[in-house]
Amino acid sequence: MIIQMHAGIRKEDPRVTEAMNKARAYGLKPKVSMVEGSHYEVVEIYLKDGSMQTSALSDHLFSALPGVETIRRVVPPKVTLFKNGDRDGKHFALGSTTIGAKLPCRLVAGPCTVDTNITEIAQKLKHLGITMIRGGCWKPRSRPYSMPGYGENAVRWLLEAARNAGMEAVFTEVMESEQIATVRRIQRETGYQGTIVLWVGARTENSLLLAALGKQYDFPVMLKNGLCAKGVGNLFERAEWVLAGPMRWNRDGSLDANASMEAGNDKVILCLRGTEKTDPQSAYRFHPNHDWAETLRANSWAPIAIDPSHSAGTMKDDLVLKNLRAALQHDIDLIMLEGGYPASGFGTNGFRGLCDNEQSVPFERFPEVLAMIDEHNRTFNKK
Ligand code: PEP
Ligand code: MN
Repeated sequence: MIIQMHAGIRKEDPRVTEAMNKARAYGLKPKVSMVEGSHYEVVEIYLKDGSMQTSALSDHLFSALPGVETIRRVVPPKVTLFKNGDRDGKHFALGSTTIGAKLPCRLVAGPCTVDTNITEIAQKLKHLGITMIRGGCWKPRSRPYSMPGYGENAVRWLLEAARNAGMEAVFTEVMESEQIATVRRIQRETGYQGTIVLWVGARTENSLLLAALGKQYDFPVMLKNGLCAKGVGNLFERAEWVLAGPMRWNRDGSLDANASMEAGNDKVILCLRGTEKTDPQSAYRFHPNHDWAETLRANSWAPIAIDPSHSAGTMKDDLVLKNLRAALQHDIDLIMLEGGYPASGFGTNGFRGLCDNEQSVPFERFPEVLAMIDEHNRTFNKK
């Protein structure tokens, strides 16, 4: 990897020292070199492999440093989430909100599955100061007789609702690569200007989808852990596909190195949503795995989310809120919560959603949710 500094920056510049120090902190061996033209000189820093391989590092570690013009790779990337030594996390914007380590934890809330009430839900959430909305348009189901979401129509309802309410970001699930193009088309048609985060759910094992998301640089990707995951390795494996970038192959089966230099999408969020439970008597729907947040923070640079809705599975005895409180004992960057319907439901039939109603947090309980997140941010000094 070669870091090229802005023209005019000299070897002795503190910005060069900063980049060199950072490279050393990551276990690389940096070497400064001057490229001299007749009217300019440019400092280039060559990052050679040390205890860490340069190809494993994400561009963002260096591209965001002051004075850096470009990053050039000379071998194809094999980027991992592993952060080796240095404690920096990646920050990125969701609309005008930036998320990542040491920044305030944020909330994304909304229904499990998008229905026509999404407009009103978005307005209500926005009134409480919630600026990020979630909603499933394509739902992975275990049986063909269950409602699979309204697909393309739901994407339109969701993006229109988000646009009209002034939501900064929208989170929705994709199960197949073709759905990415559908979201992109409806983004264009609705003129939604915020950030769209595409998430990959616990039940989706689709490496082609993950690889396709690795090329959608304007869509951050949220990866939920698989149902049978045994540890954070599951998220590291899922992330690798997104981080890898386009790979091109020669006829003899070898990698075409020159055509495969581009890194993938490093706007990755890791979401803990619980794992298959081993105790059938447990009141929880899945086994909460909030404690993985500690391992993730220590070993990875990606922002960490927790979804306390799916592991709790019910609002009986306020279980989702208890589970949220437990999740907030860990240093995390994002909470994704299902809910937003009024406690009495919509319309004369008291409609409270198409799926996962039991775990849906009524709109009236959201001030409590926000207070808990505020308290977390104060406790972790994130304000
Ligand atoms: C969801 O968030 O609505 C969802 C389906 O999640 P998971 O994949 O974690 O079950
Ligand atoms: Mn759900």
